[in-house]
Amino acid sequence: MDEATFQRMLDAARAAQANAYAPYSGFRVGAAVLGGSGAVFGGCNVENASYPVSTCAERGAISAAVAAGEKAIVAVLIVGTAADPVPPCGFCRQALSEFGASMQVVLVGEGGVVKERSLADLLPEAFGPSFFAPRRG
Ligand SMILES: [Zn+2]
Repeated sequence: MDEATFQRMLDAARAAQANAYAPYSGFRVGAAVLGGSGAVFGGCNVENASYPVSTCAERGAISAAVAAGEKAIVAVLIVGTAADPVPPCGFCRQALSEFGASMQVVLVGEGGVVKERSLADLLPEAFGPSFFAPRRG
């Protein structure tokens, strides 16, 4: 990913992170996904008093991209409030794989440390629609 795209995604993720709703954990996360069109969409974690109802930043960004008509996601960038880069949870790895198993995953720690991975590295042998004949919505 070129520097301009990285910066665009980082700005979107940080803007979303500033709006994170995390009154229970205090752990504010922002994510940005790069759609196949080149557009960037941000998301943040949204916690709930009923803890399992909470959603992660990555899935918020996916929803924003899909709502805008994106069919593929090329990359995801995630920023957390930990000094070290925070990887996506298992739930989000599966959610991301639906839109591009080969997508680039960029993790940014609050201290500025950047890690780059592929989704295939983070979720090998992922479950997907190739195992059955889904009706696409
Ligand atoms: Zn997650």
